Amino acid sequence: MFGLAERLQRLPPYLFAELDAMKRKKLREGVKLIDFGVGDPDLPTPPHIVEAMKKAVEKVENQKYPSYEGMLSFREAVADFYKRRKGVDLDPEKEVIALIGSKEGIAHLPLAYVNSGDIVLCPDPGYPVYPSSAILADGKPYFMPLKKENGFLPDLQAIPDDVARKAKIMFLNYPNNPTASVAEKDFIKEVIEFCNDRKIVLAHDAAYSEITFDYRARSFLEVGIEGVIEFNSLSKTYNMTGWRIGFAAGCPEVLAGLLKVKTNVDSGVFQAVQEAAIAALTGSDEVIDENNRIYKERRDTLIEGLKEVGLNAEKPKATFYVWCEVPEGYTSMEFTKKLLNDAGILVTPGIGFGEHGEGFVRFALTRDVGVIQEAVERLKGLSL
Ligand SMILES: *Cc1c(COP(=O)(O)O)cnc(C)c1O
Repeated sequence: MFGLAERLQRLPPYLFAELDAMKRKKLREGVKLIDFGVGDPDLPTPPHIVEAMKKAVEKVENQKYPSYEGMLSFREAVADFYKRRKGVDLDPEKEVIALIGSKEGIAHLPLAYVNSGDIVLCPDPGYPVYPSSAILADGKPYFMPLKKENGFLPDLQAIPDDVARKAKIMFLNYPNNPTASVAEKDFIKEVIEFCNDRKIVLAHDAAYSEITFDYRARSFLEVGIEGVIEFNSLSKTYNMTGWRIGFAAGCPEVLAGLLKVKTNVDSGVFQAVQEAAIAALTGSDEVIDENNRIYKERRDTLIEGLKEVGLNAEKPKATFYVWCEVPEGYTSMEFTKKLLNDAGILVTPGIGFGEHGEGFVRFALTRDVGVIQEAVERLKGLSL
């Protein structure tokens, strides 16, 4: 009746309505579903972080408006974390800002740099917020295919010159959701050069930077900072998805653009949450190691099980996802429905992450190892 803005009508259609209905039906029938669909850690926030929050919430000064860019003590804690975990020196005053979860910063970045009709380069498959944020800023997403034969890295040479000329931002995400692939130094160097040469803001989403198995994921900021903004988050690293705190680090000029949008939209992160985040970022890394031990056991159990039933998935070095090839004769949506109907197992069809996600389904390792074993038993009963 009120006429939705065209930009909302341009957002991609929601593909999962039918799947959601099938899931509700199964639940009504009393089927015990095993849900590998959600990328939300099942493990609790470590107790020392919760305790820090309890103390912080009682302080009167924390009950007031916070600063837009985040408390200096929070930004110093981020700098400490980047030094310790990534070997990157950040100036907490100029090279870090607080975010209300990294999704918030990602979604607002195009408002700072995209004019009507400008292009935003987005990975396909990828986190749906990248193209949506481009559309909400009246920009146009251009999808860079992530193909298995390229290690799920984009082929920069394949981006047409006229597209690159009109591009203002390139989004990338390594360790990657949904493919669980990683990026090494040579590629990072190449992509920073590519973007610098064309005055494209390189926006790297490092949400899974610490979820790694006998592997260290590099920060893009280790390779270059000019024109690079790196988004990170406490959500996955410290099991804090509900707390809504993340940060952006990198090129001061790019951060200033994002902050200018934010000062007109939000009023910062609750200081008590920032204090809890400081406890997380400056606390023992043992909590990260413990998380990763748990995810690794789950990963190995699922990968082994998938192999046994003849499903093909590479063993990931990072993230809590397994990107599994769909057997011949199915689309990713058909295979997802079959797993739901015949085994009560919920996964995410690759097509939900973009056209080039077709041919894969994503398992999130956010279930206990016993549940994963049960899922493997169910899979053994399937004829594929
Ligand atoms: C989970 C996730 C995030 C983190 O979002 P927050 O808003 O920080 O909770 C960002 N990017 C990707 C790709 C993710 O999967």
